[in-house]
Amino acid sequence: MAKRKKNIKKSANKKRSITRKPKEKVFVVNMKKLLGIEEAIKYLLDLSGDKGIEVFKYLITHGQTEENALAKKMKFNRANAIRKYLYKLYNKNLVSYIKVRRGAKAWYTYYWKANPERLVFLLKGIYSDEIKQAEKSIELNKTADFYVCETCNRRYSLNEALENDFKCANCGGVLQHLENSEFIEDKQKRIKFLQKKIENLEKLVKEK
Ligand SMILES: [Zn+2]
Repeated sequence: MAKRKKNIKKSANKKRSITRKPKEKVFVVNMKKLLGIEEAIKYLLDLSGDKGIEVFKYLITHGQTEENALAKKMKFNRANAIRKYLYKLYNKNLVSYIKVRRGAKAWYTYYWKANPERLVFLLKGIYSDEIKQAEKSIELNKTADFYVCETCNRRYSLNEALENDFKCANCGGVLQHLENSEFIEDKQKRIKFLQKKIENLEKLVKEK
């Protein structure tokens, strides 16, 4: 794969001038494991659909690929048709390109490549957001004091319960104190689970 990349660059340098060549860190990602993660596939599907995933996978497997060649390989009849998917991935930086000018003509050739390390980064963001939310709801439930009527399933704050003499306003039944410990335990378990997922994700990426 590295050899192929080099060849493209070499021939590009010979005939054309490269107008955009960002300096980037090189990462090695365990793709088999990454694409085995349910959330990874779901993220890609939501972003760019089945075709988008195919394009992304192709670029991962084959390395930097010229746009027209890519369209042909992916069985798109026109290069334009594949751009829709490339741009969706590009918006999240999951793919990037270099633009190469052909001779003196104002005509560019695009070479695309996948940035799978970005998918790891995005997934970590999703897990982290959920952890933050879970922590927030633990805090809320720790401090809140609720009472419940087990007949009507109505919830009362401590003040409401006091006002009603700890009786349900609807049926007059005696209110029970709501136990949050189970809820909090569940959330804490979920947080640990997500933290483990983040750890595992980090193991999938190595900087070259
Ligand atoms: Zn009631």
